[in-house]
Amino acid sequence: MKNKVLNALFYLLFLSFFYAFSQLYYNRNTIQNLELIIGESSNIQATWVGSKEVYRNIPILILAGHADSQGMAGAGTPGEAVHKFGLNPMHPDMSDELFWNLKLQESIVQLGKKKGLNIKLYDPGIRNIDDANDPRTNWSVGRKFAKHGGYAIEIHFDAYGRYGVGSGLIPPYFETPNTIDESIARKFGRFPILYRGGLGAPRRQIRILEIGKLEGLLEKNLRNLKTRKRTINFLANEIVQAFLNGIT
Ligand SMILES: [Zn+2]
Repeated sequence: MKNKVLNALFYLLFLSFFYAFSQLYYNRNTIQNLELIIGESSNIQATWVGSKEVYRNIPILILAGHADSQGMAGAGTPGEAVHKFGLNPMHPDMSDELFWNLKLQESIVQLGKKKGLNIKLYDPGIRNIDDANDPRTNWSVGRKFAKHGGYAIEIHFDAYGRYGVGSGLIPPYFETPNTIDESIARKFGRFPILYRGGLGAPRRQIRILEIGKLEGLLEKNLRNLKTRKRTINFLANEIVQAFLNGIT
C-alpha cells in the first residue's frame, strides 16, 4: 500500500516536471518567431515602397498610441482578454492597449539608445486631453518633431478578431516613405498611405505602427508574468533592428 502511494507520488512529480519543462521550451520557441507572436499582418493592398534615404543620425521619437485620450472614444483597444473573456484590465485607469504601448515604448527607447540610435520618447503624462491640437498631445509634439526633420512614430496594438486588421506600418501622408519605413514594413507589413482617408497621425507626418492584434498568443505572452519581459524585449528588439537596418 505504502509503495503504491509512493509510486503515485513519484509519477505526479515526474509529470509536473515534464509539464514545467515543456512549457518553458514552448514559450522560448514561440517568442523567437515574430510572425508567430504578432499574428497576421494587414492584407489590405499597399503598393508604396520606401526608398528615400535617411541620414545616419536621424532623430527618432517614439510615441505610445492613446497616451492622451483615455476615458474617451479613442482610448485604444481593451484587448481580447478583457473584452471577450472578462479578465481584469491591466490598469484601472487605462485601456490595455495603452498599458502595453507604454511598456513597449520605454523598452524600444532603452534598447535603441544602447544600440546607438538618436532616439527618445514623449509621454504627455496627462491621460485625457480633449483637443488633439493642444500643444501637449502626442500628435502636436510628433508633428513639430517631424517638421524639424525627425522620424516620429506612434506605436499601437490593434483590436482583436474581426474588430482589427493586423500588424503593419501606415506611412506619413505628405512625405515620401523612406528606408526606415521600408525596413519596418518588411517585418510588420504595410498599410496603404490613404488608409481610412489618412488618419490624424499620418496627416501630421507621424507614422503609425500596428504591432499586432491584442489577442491570442501575443496577449497571453504579454499577460503571463513568466513571459512578459521576454515578449516586450523581443518586440522592442525587432523594432530597433528594423531602425538599424533602415538607416545603414
Ligand atoms: Zn491603437
